[in-house]
Amino acid sequence: MEKKLLLGDEAIAQAAIDAGVSGVYAYPGTPSTEIMEYVQASPAARSGTIKAYWSANEKTAMETALGMSYAGKRALVCMKHVGLNVAADAFINAAITGANGGLVVLAADDPSMHSSQNEQDSRFYGKFALMPILEPSNQQQAYDMVRYAFDLSESLALPVLIRITTRLAHSRAGVATAPPRPQNELKLPANLRQFVLLPAIARVQYRDLLAKQEHLRNRSLNDGFNEYLDGPDKKLGIIACGLAFNYLIENFESGVVPYPVLKIGQYPLPIELVRRLYAECEAILVLEDGYPMVEELLRGLLQLGKPVHGRLDGALPRDGELNPVLVAHALGMETHRGQAVPAIVKARPPRLCDGCAHTDAFLALNEALQAYGRGRVFSDIGCYTLSALEPLEAINSCVDMGASITMAIGAADAGLVPAVAAIGDSTFTHSGMTGLLDAVNNNSPITVLILDNSTTGMTGGQSSAAFGKVEDICRGLGVHEDHIHVLKPLRKHHEENVAIIKKELEYQGVSVIIPRRECVQTLNRKVREKAKARQEQQ
Ligand code: SF4
Repeated sequence: MEKKLLLGDEAIAQAAIDAGVSGVYAYPGTPSTEIMEYVQASPAARSGTIKAYWSANEKTAMETALGMSYAGKRALVCMKHVGLNVAADAFINAAITGANGGLVVLAADDPSMHSSQNEQDSRFYGKFALMPILEPSNQQQAYDMVRYAFDLSESLALPVLIRITTRLAHSRAGVATAPPRPQNELKLPANLRQFVLLPAIARVQYRDLLAKQEHLRNRSLNDGFNEYLDGPDKKLGIIACGLAFNYLIENFESGVVPYPVLKIGQYPLPIELVRRLYAECEAILVLEDGYPMVEELLRGLLQLGKPVHGRLDGALPRDGELNPVLVAHALGMETHRGQAVPAIVKARPPRLCDGCAHTDAFLALNEALQAYGRGRVFSDIGCYTLSALEPLEAINSCVDMGASITMAIGAADAGLVPAVAAIGDSTFTHSGMTGLLDAVNNNSPITVLILDNSTTGMTGGQSSAAFGKVEDICRGLGVHEDHIHVLKPLRKHHEENVAIIKKELEYQGVSVIIPRRECVQTLNRKVREKAKARQEQQ
């Protein structure tokens, strides 16, 4: 058995490759991005044996993976937690169609919002969809669970959700790998109507899904990812979900916890084990990253019976990421905070890179908007969102992918004219295009800046589905040729750019302005790679 030092994300990717995956689909989003990058760098993906590419958004990725599963092969679809909102339509319906080849959905949650706009808990989506959920407690288990998830998916004919969090995704550990196995052969579903969700068929499929729930509970009880670890001190029983189990045992040098612990790695919850813990212990402490999902289940509405501690009674904070110190506090233990941060380590608030094209684009926009006053720029999610901060302070909203154009339409409808939307090229094809179509259909008096840096800059420079197509898409959606302008966002063109933006702000219809200059990070990377290739040739 080979052992590799892997990030949690890499362990998941390696496991999928070893488990015989045929397709991996994703949209980049921290903390899930490295899964696709690892697969894409693998010999199997480079040779085309595994299809692995960035999709336009998480919904299209989910649907593509479902198509591969329909054809009998194993597919993995990866996203960050908010991406699951985008994929939700396909995700929920995939539980009704069921899977043919193993279908695994990986959602990477971001408690504490290290790089996200919320800290929602993907376990609720799995529960809502009535799907099995797996939650690893370390990198090794993440690896093991992926292989198990493909098998579970094929044996139940259901997609399986794996939920991880940032800390697991982005930390390394030694991972023992299993021997690789071959990919599935092409095989159509036994029931060719299974994927046709017409009401008469969907009703039958939904009943089938409900009928599988008992089996899911049994698998969760017996398959080994949920463990009852007995302890002598029954004053407290601990339910530790996923990575929270690691935070718990880090507080005990021996790794042995004196209280009974129910370690949860698979859902639906194993009710029998929860009952046993509740019966044997005087009080329960629930440790879970994200929302108090298990804790709420245990408390119920009336809170009858034994005390249940966790995020709801203040034993742990209601928001943010768990850690060993917070767990120690909840256990009434002394904490060891480690060493002070050395003075040489400076806080580095996020900001646009020096030389970033967005700076020049927003300087021009700020100047063009001076006559109208502040508070008119609706933004999307990307590097440019950082222009909300000083010194630019150029944008006034950041809600979700695609919301810039549609919010500008709403504000213009309310009489805030001109209203401006700022969106990146990748985000535009992710979920901005339909908003632009609405704007064209309503002839909304808005100005849309599509900041084209030819990449998905914020997540590290992945390919953009919009590459080389932005003007064509805008024309195709009905924006008039006379109101589509491509600018070069450079200081030397500042006056010219301000004049164009000013002119379009006055236009009482839809204008699109495309400041186009490649992200300096990807540009520098390409230059370095070229220089290296040249050196190697000499
Ligand atoms: S990564 Fe690229 S797009 Fe993002 S701030 Fe830096 S230069 Fe600008």
